[in-house]
Amino acid sequence: MTPRESEGGNTLAFDLGGTQLRAAILNSSLEILQRESLATDAQGGPRAIIQQMTSLAERLMKYPHAAFTAVGISAPGPLDSTSGKTLSLPTLPGWEDFPLRDELSARLSLPVVLENDGISAACGEWKHGAGRGHNNLVYVTVSTGIGGGVIVDGKVLRGRRGMAGHVGHMMIDPSGPICPCGGKGCLEAFAAGPALNRIAQQNGFADAAEVVTAARQRNAQAMEIISREAEYLGYGFASLLHLYSPEILIMGGGVSNALDLMYPKIMEQIHRHAMPSFREVKLVAAQLGDNAGLIGAAVLARA
Ligand SMILES: [Zn+2]
Repeated sequence: MTPRESEGGNTLAFDLGGTQLRAAILNSSLEILQRESLATDAQGGPRAIIQQMTSLAERLMKYPHAAFTAVGISAPGPLDSTSGKTLSLPTLPGWEDFPLRDELSARLSLPVVLENDGISAACGEWKHGAGRGHNNLVYVTVSTGIGGGVIVDGKVLRGRRGMAGHVGHMMIDPSGPICPCGGKGCLEAFAAGPALNRIAQQNGFADAAEVVTAARQRNAQAMEIISREAEYLGYGFASLLHLYSPEILIMGGGVSNALDLMYPKIMEQIHRHAMPSFREVKLVAAQLGDNAGLIGAAVLARA
């Protein structure tokens, strides 16, 4: 046995995204031992993805000391984590009611856990990242969409069909823009990456990243855009405090790279919109970056 291999065996984790399918072997300390990835065959539908997952597993099994005893999948929601079926993945066509968990389990002859990417990442940050040691936390990722996961009383909040915690679809203004979910005025429609990019371009910037750079150089227009983004996030975060009373709010996703710039405005919003007893919350950036989903899937597979 090598020092990095550990009691309890290794876990195989998948992170299924709209563009990349990533897989890794993690040991019981949640360290990534090996990783492989493929461009997601989104057009091929679920059968093609199962094939890609199987071939990634075979590649990983060829490494020494890479044997695994449990498998976890982080996939875009909404999905039904109780039945192990995907429901309708906005980024991947043809997945309605596909038994992803059981199909992969049959291929690999191992138990498989399927969880949505928001809850997976929340679990990763909870057990191995910015949320360590907390029993009550809310994780929010702000990237192409806004997703998240909620830990309450030291347990993952799942709700009916395991669909709780879709924090991006909290409506903050019924007269707001159309959201990818079909609703109107969701937090995601106002504050996710595409909305920020659109506002950036309307103001003559190439994209959101250029706005962040300009704001760091104290460009007034860029600072105004960032302040507006923080304002929207603040509405959402204040509601999350009232709903779940977390000790800590963890923000991940590409937009969280600008958390330091947005922090004062978000906290101002929290003070304005949350009741006094809810305001003592820590707001921190996620620590696991792109690995949050993989690590969280491994956490859940081991549970
Ligand atoms: Zn929505």
